[in-house]
Amino acid sequence: MGTPGTLHAPLQVEFDYTRSLGPTLTGFMTGLKRRQILGGVLSDGTVAVPPPEYDAVSFDPITELVPVSSDGVVQSWAWVPEPVEGQPLDRPFAFAQIVLDGADRPLLHAVSVDSADQIETGMRVRARWADETVGAITDIRWFEPLDGAPEAPPPAPDGEPVTGIISPVKLAYDFAASPEESAFFRGLAEGKILGQRCPVCEKVYVPPRGACPVDGVPTTTEVEVPDSGIVTTFCIVNVPFLGQRITPPYVSAYMLLDGADIAFLHLLLGVDPADVRMGMRVKAVWKPRDEWGTSIENISHFEPTGEPDADYESFKVHL
Ligand SMILES: [Zn+2]
Repeated sequence: MGTPGTLHAPLQVEFDYTRSLGPTLTGFMTGLKRRQILGGVLSDGTVAVPPPEYDAVSFDPITELVPVSSDGVVQSWAWVPEPVEGQPLDRPFAFAQIVLDGADRPLLHAVSVDSADQIETGMRVRARWADETVGAITDIRWFEPLDGAPEAPPPAPDGEPVTGIISPVKLAYDFAASPEESAFFRGLAEGKILGQRCPVCEKVYVPPRGACPVDGVPTTTEVEVPDSGIVTTFCIVNVPFLGQRITPPYVSAYMLLDGADIAFLHLLLGVDPADVRMGMRVKAVWKPRDEWGTSIENISHFEPTGEPDADYESFKVHL
């Protein structure tokens, strides 16, 4: 019988980064909302788009903003043959440094052309504005060759100043588990918690790492540990955050399972956070079996068992 292959699963990490803009970029973004591009006047009299917040030579804040054209010249460019999600166009396009008329320094933005042989340095382009502007660089959808481009729409009326932006940050990748982690996750699918023992120091690692970091040798002996243990250290979470599944306060704790030598992090429920203690005896609460997969989430959380606390001396080396 062959060894089953390692496990892998799609993983997506995402959060929204909220940024306040300060006076200079508030001016720039508010201008975009009005379909007007503003540049900052630098200490040498040149105009930069977007405006930097501080002058690189004098270090003074940039306070003078001037309108520039939404037409300009391609200074340099790079072809994007396979756009990824979130880029300005979902078909091949160019990223280009574009010096707008009235500006001295280039703006990085997309240029929409059908193929790489339709863009060249020196080509004149015009901004294509979004139908609805919100005060973001994406209010300019892209630039396109000036020949045949429609007239730029007139500036929209003044609205509220744009003092902040939200930048979504997203990372999607395929998580590949090591052979040892794969065994651990397959164990969980059967309701077992599997670790590995170091042949030299005899410490049991749960989840298994594949090697002992102290002795530098492979850990090959599989060890099943029970789903009960103690709390070593813990954190009472009082701060709400985006995507939080449980209403604070709640306790995130390092659980040292009986027979294991390192603790792992899990959720501790069924107890007032104020009553959680180091050395408190706990046991896993598993989800209904039909919800199990190859995941640590098969364990919904841990709960106190009510047994006497472990003596500090018995676990101090595991902290
Ligand atoms: Zn070891």
